[in-house]
Amino acid sequence: MGKKDDNDGKKYEDFNQWYNEIVEEAGLCDKRYPVKGMNIWTPYGWKLMQNIDRETRRLVNETGHQEVKFPLLVPQKEFEKEADHIAGFEDEVYWVTRAGRNELDIPLLLRPTSETAMYPVFDLWVRSHADLPLKIYQMVNVFRYETKQTKAFMRMREFHFFEAHTCHATEEGAEAQIKEDLEIMEDLSKKICMPYLALVRTDWDKFPGAEYTVGADALMPTGRTLQMAGIHQYKTNFSEAYDITFEDEDGNHKNVHQTTYGMAERLVGAIAAIHGDDKGLVLPPEIAPIQVRIIPIIYGDEEKVLTYSEKIKKRLEEKGIDVDIDDSDERPGSKFYDAELKGIPLRLDIGSDELEEENVTLVRRDTGEKRSVTKEEIVDEIGSTFEKMQEDMYERAKEELKNNIEEIEDLSEIDEEKIYRGGWCEKESCGKEIEDITGRDILGIPYEEEDFEGECIHCEEKTDTLVYISKTH
Ligand SMILES: [Zn+2]
Repeated sequence: MGKKDDNDGKKYEDFNQWYNEIVEEAGLCDKRYPVKGMNIWTPYGWKLMQNIDRETRRLVNETGHQEVKFPLLVPQKEFEKEADHIAGFEDEVYWVTRAGRNELDIPLLLRPTSETAMYPVFDLWVRSHADLPLKIYQMVNVFRYETKQTKAFMRMREFHFFEAHTCHATEEGAEAQIKEDLEIMEDLSKKICMPYLALVRTDWDKFPGAEYTVGADALMPTGRTLQMAGIHQYKTNFSEAYDITFEDEDGNHKNVHQTTYGMAERLVGAIAAIHGDDKGLVLPPEIAPIQVRIIPIIYGDEEKVLTYSEKIKKRLEEKGIDVDIDDSDERPGSKFYDAELKGIPLRLDIGSDELEEENVTLVRRDTGEKRSVTKEEIVDEIGSTFEKMQEDMYERAKEELKNNIEEIEDLSEIDEEKIYRGGWCEKESCGKEIEDITGRDILGIPYEEEDFEGECIHCEEKTDTLVYISKTH
């Protein structure tokens, strides 16, 4: 990917360095905790995560999910019930084998995800068809012993996780749940200004124990993709292993059909990566921890400028806007710098001119656009500017995603860091060869069917199946 303008130089030239610096300098996390892969959520970063969680919570509550919280430790024997699931996670699991001076009779593991914690209990909760669908979720920390290089928010050994688990009487019920999950993802993506591709993973890349997996992949500034969410159809794979049955209307005992929907703190990392520039973060107004920062510019009328600024702040707070005021002794230049670094969506500059004319100078973080707004219009103007920023930020990211997808007919055309779209015969052997030859992953087949007629980019067999291919983070 080329650089967009002079302002985005560093981000595109050396993404890793830019990203690693910005997440810490902007105050999203502290990486000095002495355990590899485990960072500290600092107040600003945690507020951002909480605001994303608030939107997620609203969307899943509206669709009839209920929040729960399960214990962190899972007994070994429960973990080992579903063969594919164990195989998928056994290298990443942290074990607790001692308590005090005693070896534990039953080793316990720290949840890498909560299927094996929840499903033994689901059998007790689900008795008859009247208990279905069961739709629950939790927001907790999970642990996975990553062997690849760790990266703040994107690849951690302890991370914040959202997981929804559902049980249904029929496969159709579970399929409808997956559609609902994708609608939730779509709504959330508008709030966080993060367009993505919904792709059905290949069989060799699906979630351990799943029948199939839909991944939501976002484009990073490197031209590689990052998985933002995983939605999984389990059919009865887990309910057979955990014996989760219900009595249907005719008195027959049947296994429930299950789905899960998972997202992690990666969303924070992706937002920083997608929207940030060389000055710092650029946060979408609807989830920004601080939505507006007032900057008093003081030369002469110190008292009056501060009083006027406080009045404006109070008015905005009454309207539910997250606003603060930088009344430090720093020069205006350093105050602007700090607001830009933190990605605060709007700045209100107030100096003696604004005081005299009873207005404020409103500055957009995403575009740098400045304009005067009268005292009376401020609240309405902020509201409409937030809406515009949400749309603009989403559209810009969508445009960038679109511009980085290239149509190909043969895998020899794959030579850049971007997303490629072409035909695939759906044979596993051919797919694995495509991955080996190109050094990229087949991300998957579009969940929403896209019209296609052509040939496999490798074996040239006729096909109407499309795949997306890219390097991944
Ligand atoms: Zn092929």
